[in-house]
Amino acid sequence: MLADKDRIFTNLYGMHDRTLKGAQARGHWDGTDKLIQKGRDWVVQEMKDSGLRGRGGAGFPTGLKWSFMPKESDGRPAYLVVNADESEPGTCKDREIMRHDPHTLIEGCLIASFAMNAHACYIYIRGEYIREKEALQAAIDEAYDAGLVGPNASGSGWDFDIYLHHGAGAYICGEETALLESLEGKKGMPRMKPPFPAGAGLYGCPTTVNNVESIAVVPTILRRGASWFSGFGRPNNAGTKLFAISGHVNNPCVVEEAMSIPFEELIEKHCGGIRGGWDNLKAVIPGGSSVPMVRGENMRDAIMDFDALKEKGSSLGTAAVIVMDESTDIIKAIWRLSKFYKHESCGQCTPCREGTGWMMRVMDRLVKGEAEVEEIDMLLDVTKQVEGHTICALGDAAAWPIQGLIKNFRGEIEDRIASKRIAAE
Ligand code: SF4
Repeated sequence: MLADKDRIFTNLYGMHDRTLKGAQARGHWDGTDKLIQKGRDWVVQEMKDSGLRGRGGAGFPTGLKWSFMPKESDGRPAYLVVNADESEPGTCKDREIMRHDPHTLIEGCLIASFAMNAHACYIYIRGEYIREKEALQAAIDEAYDAGLVGPNASGSGWDFDIYLHHGAGAYICGEETALLESLEGKKGMPRMKPPFPAGAGLYGCPTTVNNVESIAVVPTILRRGASWFSGFGRPNNAGTKLFAISGHVNNPCVVEEAMSIPFEELIEKHCGGIRGGWDNLKAVIPGGSSVPMVRGENMRDAIMDFDALKEKGSSLGTAAVIVMDESTDIIKAIWRLSKFYKHESCGQCTPCREGTGWMMRVMDRLVKGEAEVEEIDMLLDVTKQVEGHTICALGDAAAWPIQGLIKNFRGEIEDRIASKRIAAE
């Protein structure tokens, strides 16, 4: 289990003072100017050496992403944009940072922006996060008042402004280019890539979009050293990580743990075990609703990191672990996700716009068993036509849960169709 001394988030549960005074007492904003004075190349190299992979779901190496930003400005400003639009069902980790430990995020924004030659940072926060927005804005105001951000931020010589933008509640604005469109005041619709944001992002300027957790861990990594951070987890899966465990465990929680912790240990140590015991475990969605589920018996020996869960046919995603026990109507659970993705499709590309509705309507009937058995393969075929054929990843996100359902619980779908038929005879 991760020792308390190695926790980056020391106020995850809001038990301590979240104001600047409290944050400083816990070690935040300590020597920020010195970190900046070590220079841009040093910061980027430390982030590369730390092995941090993006905490927003894709797991792309953070330091490498930063290095894509132009070294010298061609006259255009550069921007850091923090994606705080946490809207994926099951994912609820960034909100704990923003409402209880906001200063570590703000300090991270300053250092990361400096590393990318950006004098301005925008945090785009989910529309429904009202209290989180208030807490974060209060912390930003405190940081301005104390001279930690603003002109000559923290006495580092770097001028830095930070803006908090409140979204309007659309899931798709968590997609980085839709987020940029929304930030620019347009409809939140994903852009075609290329160009990638590092070349032309916010207002057509070089931009990096990072997840809240990815940025909030930066100051501690730099203070304690890349090798400290990379000492946790297996190679290529370094660091500590926030896990958000929901569903049928005895104590659902958000907890910081070392990467590569075994699934059983995570559940036993922090969640009090599976409701009704391990034999009652039916299935797990290990990384937020858009990743394929894994059958309970296959999940028991799982290692919670990017590579191990890929080998299990799923993904670590945001590490939002949704646990379902035997009482779950698994077909209905996936139908609910289909309904969500259909509702959130922005509608600009046909396979997603039409496909999400089509898949949801078939799922409607599968829940009731009112379908032909052949339709299961037809549905699988449609998911393949949506997957990989859309502008953004929402198409994949809608397809994968259904693929996971059919792969793991085809028998249950067939049984429901058969029992409906018998009941009708
Ligand atoms: Fe919009 Fe869906 Fe296309 Fe993404 S995949 S751009 S959400 S229609």
